[in-house]
Amino acid sequence: MGLKLYNTLTRDKSEFKPLKGNEVRIYSCGPTVYSYAHIGNFRAYVFMDTLRRVLKYNGYELKHVMNITDVGHLESDADEGEDKMEKAARKENKDPYEIANYYTEIFFRDMGRLNIERPEIIAKATDHISDMLKFVEELIANGYAYETSKGIYFDISKLDKYPVLSNRKLDDQIAGARVDVDTEKRNPYDFALWIKAPENHIMKWESPWGLSYPGWHIECSAMGRKYLGEEFDIHTGGVDHIPTHHENEIAQSKGATGKIPAKTWMHVEFLQVDGGKMSKSLGNTYTLDTLKEHGIEPLAYKIFCYTAHYRTKLNFTFEGAMSAQKSINRLREGYLNHLESKQEVPQSTIEQYEQRFLEAINDDLNMPLAMGIVWEVVRNEVKSEQYAKLLEKFDEVLGLDIKNSKKYLLEQEKIELPEEIKQLVEKRTLARQNKDWALSDKIRDELKEKGYNVKDSKEGMTIEKI
Ligand code: AMP
Ligand code: ZN
Repeated sequence: MGLKLYNTLTRDKSEFKPLKGNEVRIYSCGPTVYSYAHIGNFRAYVFMDTLRRVLKYNGYELKHVMNITDVGHLESDADEGEDKMEKAARKENKDPYEIANYYTEIFFRDMGRLNIERPEIIAKATDHISDMLKFVEELIANGYAYETSKGIYFDISKLDKYPVLSNRKLDDQIAGARVDVDTEKRNPYDFALWIKAPENHIMKWESPWGLSYPGWHIECSAMGRKYLGEEFDIHTGGVDHIPTHHENEIAQSKGATGKIPAKTWMHVEFLQVDGGKMSKSLGNTYTLDTLKEHGIEPLAYKIFCYTAHYRTKLNFTFEGAMSAQKSINRLREGYLNHLESKQEVPQSTIEQYEQRFLEAINDDLNMPLAMGIVWEVVRNEVKSEQYAKLLEKFDEVLGLDIKNSKKYLLEQEKIELPEEIKQLVEKRTLARQNKDWALSDKIRDELKEKGYNVKDSKEGMTIEKI
């Protein structure tokens, strides 16, 4: 059974075939690194991870690019407001590059906590300024771009069709509240490719149009083409990218190469809070650290994401996330129970499960359905090591690090130490600070009698249930 994916461009679900051989070339719009990525953002990257894993499960090889936007993303996607990086730099009184490095590092730390695979190529916008400049010059040469006092703009009237990705009706928008007032633009929906930097702007580069910086959309077009060619297989992002960012990426590529850059466009729906969007600008965001404070592990959040199909909205509540924490523990316990058992299961039963799992994931990454099959295996009354091995295989797609189930369960026991034990641990820490080794050893023995092993290392003390 082949893999079917929903394509926003054609508005249908169809059989996926790579353009070239067995290699799938993917471009994913990555984070704008001006602040902590929140769990809404990570829904997008969990989806990206699932897509990668499903493609690999189907035997494909991947060449996957994800960008890091460290310049050019303005407060509004439609060329309004300040550059997000510059705004954060002013607020934190730091250099924008320092801000970018700091949040990029934290972003990848959190990706690791979620066991999200790292794309083969990570492309930082500020490392690709000359590629972007070349792209803009090409657009001018091809007659698709023009200069104003603010920058270089893309002329949408030169295209055969705009928009192509969204159903957006341009006239409706003009009639709405947000009428564009830039009189220098030829058409209200022309967008900035390159922006002339105001005097106090920090991130700026020499260009034929003076000191200036790239627009957000040109970054992805230029980096996508550089690493994946003029036409590649899949482009991903959140649904918020459909009407502006991806629409404009398509416009730019058509202006430069005459081609729509990706064959399949995939978009993940929003994680919501209280029925509304979770976003940094609304101030209702949670990070993985916030969840941790509530006793919810990153991988529990990942399994929470699997409760909804990526194309439907998912509402976040702490109750929901807590129950995902319980679920992942049940999954781990179920896996370990199977692993320790030697009962024989007919090969045909295993194959049926494999078949149903494959059908679910190949139906446009239907993770809720796939999880239903996972639970059937976990809860099966017959306990068998074969089921444990089957779950390990499914975990190639789930990415829940099932093999390390014991470690995670032990870690939680560590967190949930009884009060009496916690007090002994505190006393021992104090004794060690005072270099009272005799007392420290005495408490260690006492802890052992109560069923806890203490290990000391350079990083500090760890405690495990015996
Ligand atoms: P940004 O760092 O703001 O450029 O966003 C990074 C990614 O997160 C983009 O693919 C967005 O579409 C996505 N995103 C932002 N907010 C949410 C949300 N609440 N739920 C799901 N994805 C989101
Ligand atoms: Zn992008």
